[in-house]
Amino acid sequence: MYLSRLELQGFKTFAKKTVLEFPPPKKDHNALTVVVGPNGSGKSNTADAIRWCLGEQSMKLLRGKSGQDVIFSGSKGKARSGFAEVTMVIDNQDGAMQIDFAEVVITRRLYRDGESGYLLNGKKVRLTDIQLLLAEAGVGQRSYSVVGQGMIDHVLTSSPEERKIFFDDATGVRSLQMKRHQSMLKLRKAAENLVEVQMLLGEIEPRLRSLKRQVRRLEKRDQVEFELKDIQQNYFGTLWWNLQDEMSVVSDKLADVDETIGKTKARLADGDKDLERIEKELGGSQEEVNKGGFHQAYKDAQKALSKVREKEFAAQRELELAKVRAQSTWAPLPLTDIIKELETILASDDKTALSTIFAMVKKLRNRLSRPRPEDVKPDQKLVNALESASKEVQKAKDLLSSTEKDLDKQQSQSSKSKSKVFAMQRAQRALQQEVHGLENKRNAIEIGRARTETRMEGVEREMQEELKDRKAEIIAQEPKSRHRNLDELRGQMLKLKHQLELIGGIDEETIKEYEETDQRFTFLSTQVKDIREAIGSTEKVIDELDGQIAKRSEKVFGTINKEFQKYFKVLFNGGSCKLVRVKAKQGEEKSHVALDRAMEELAEEKIEEDNESVEAILKRVKNRKDHVTGIEIEATPPGKNLKALNLLSGGERALTSIALLSAIMATNPSPFVVLDEVDAALDEANTMRFANILDELRKLTQFIVITHNRATMERADLLYGVTMGDDGISNLISVNLEDLADGATARR
Ligand code: ATP
Ligand code: MG
Repeated sequence: MYLSRLELQGFKTFAKKTVLEFPPPKKDHNALTVVVGPNGSGKSNTADAIRWCLGEQSMKLLRGKSGQDVIFSGSKGKARSGFAEVTMVIDNQDGAMQIDFAEVVITRRLYRDGESGYLLNGKKVRLTDIQLLLAEAGVGQRSYSVVGQGMIDHVLTSSPEERKIFFDDATGVRSLQMKRHQSMLKLRKAAENLVEVQMLLGEIEPRLRSLKRQVRRLEKRDQVEFELKDIQQNYFGTLWWNLQDEMSVVSDKLADVDETIGKTKARLADGDKDLERIEKELGGSQEEVNKGGFHQAYKDAQKALSKVREKEFAAQRELELAKVRAQSTWAPLPLTDIIKELETILASDDKTALSTIFAMVKKLRNRLSRPRPEDVKPDQKLVNALESASKEVQKAKDLLSSTEKDLDKQQSQSSKSKSKVFAMQRAQRALQQEVHGLENKRNAIEIGRARTETRMEGVEREMQEELKDRKAEIIAQEPKSRHRNLDELRGQMLKLKHQLELIGGIDEETIKEYEETDQRFTFLSTQVKDIREAIGSTEKVIDELDGQIAKRSEKVFGTINKEFQKYFKVLFNGGSCKLVRVKAKQGEEKSHVALDRAMEELAEEKIEEDNESVEAILKRVKNRKDHVTGIEIEATPPGKNLKALNLLSGGERALTSIALLSAIMATNPSPFVVLDEVDAALDEANTMRFANILDELRKLTQFIVITHNRATMERADLLYGVTMGDDGISNLISVNLEDLADGATARR
């Protein structure tokens, strides 16, 4: 791998398209290209071009203020350029660059409007892609691949921390470190995600818990409803079928009494016939018997009593039914209604008279308790009807007894021959009394039946309300067993109904929301698990990279240190020097990839679940850093006893830097190195020594050297002359030194 071509266009003084070709490696060494030319002609601009193309971001190192300063700014004869473009063509036939191209073409371009970009073999890429590719091939863009003019002793003036970056390049761990950096970014992102997802989880959790409670209430409701259904079945089944039984008992009784009444009435009719026959036999005496119409009056009174008694029965029945109905239609007031009433009472202000409130409370109490039959106040009309019917009955009874008395009186005065008729008449009267008694009994049974019927109606209505379709089931089938204590069952039923009221209804939306929230919770939990796994595996990658970095930098650093001492002794003809690694003290080091402040704050925040483990992860992420934080350089020229680097002379500084650079190049050679007048401060003897070192190092590295020194020029494989005319534009001429050398030999 070697740099085969450099193309500049619109870059600084290279307004026109200018191409520098670099020779391929020779048998025993890589090409040394020397760039020469007068001051200000644009030599350093070629070095800048390479630095820029390799991705340099520091405008200071590019000797400008803003990015656009690299674009040709125009001159007397030529207008300014619209863009700057530098292309490096790298021969990759040996595959040193991990990319499938025999020739790698890197282009950086910048327009005046600020638009910019990188191309890799004509394809747009990101800077990091190029950086990683170059780092893997051992090209360090910032540090020693391009050593700018006056920058050779930069490594001496920079801080130990800055030097660390330089040495990361030098020890070839830069690519590993870039990978580590990317992994750290990934890790940080994952840790941030973890905190975020955990926070979301923390937010969702209480809502989920409340929803879960509500859904559980629904389950409880189902259970209560089930229990209630069971009890209702039992209660109404027993009640209904008990009433059925009552009805059949009453019907039997009614049939019995009807039969007895029928028989008694038949006997009465027979008696009447007998009486009629005997009276006929007695002949004219009949008239006598009936004289005064006493018997007829008695019979009429008897009939009248029957009539008013019927009326009284009907009134009694109505009254009884009214009571039964009032009781069976009573239902307990629903809880919600009670609460509403109580609220109305509570809301009543001072102006509401105490008596009004009292009345309201009383009304509520009445509505809350089941009425006792004796408390039921039936319609006054019904009571009046019964009263007047009873009065009529009493009147009819009085009339009957007076006609009876008349009859008895008449009989005692009649002849003995009539006594048989009178006896028969008395017997008939007794029978009539019996019929009355039976009718009374029948009436009582009839009232009982009507009562039962009314209760059945009430139960049926209640069943319709409470059971709906299940009512038919109960009516259709007699239950296997009947409950003994209906009041107890009714009490349980009411309790369960109140319980249902307390539980209240549940919204379908709530169930939907619960399901959605639960799903989201599960999703986030899975995410947390995934992120944790990702964090774990990324940490493992980082650990592996850390191991590789430590191993490699340890090894290479040792070699560089040795080589540094060797080159130092060559250049100084003695003396001593040393590289020392500064290790961070635990706890006080600055994090290499520090987490944001916000991130640290996030870590401190309370996260409900797994709080500790998230914090632990964040802490671990935060604490990941390089332990070597800086490099110190010690250099003591022969015969001196110096400690501080800044006590070295300008030339000594340059020599120390060149020794270090050489050590690095010998240990971990960059494929190509650009040196811009690094030998400027050297005396003639040291210039020679430097040229010799270059001669040795070019076995390992391709050199592009800008210099005014003949000793270096003499060793060049190719010489470029840079000139500048009045137009402020750099021009390039190449001189093949082999030809020149031949010519020189010929002249000699
Ligand atoms: P020296 O031998 O003194 O180091 P040099 O040959 O290295 O000289 P450079 O530093 O390459 O010279 O060139 C510097 C010149 O380039 C300056 O005269 C500067 O004005 C000119 N220059 C720098 N940037 C631009 C630009 N964007 N447009 C035009 N000219 C520029
Ligand atoms: Mg220069």
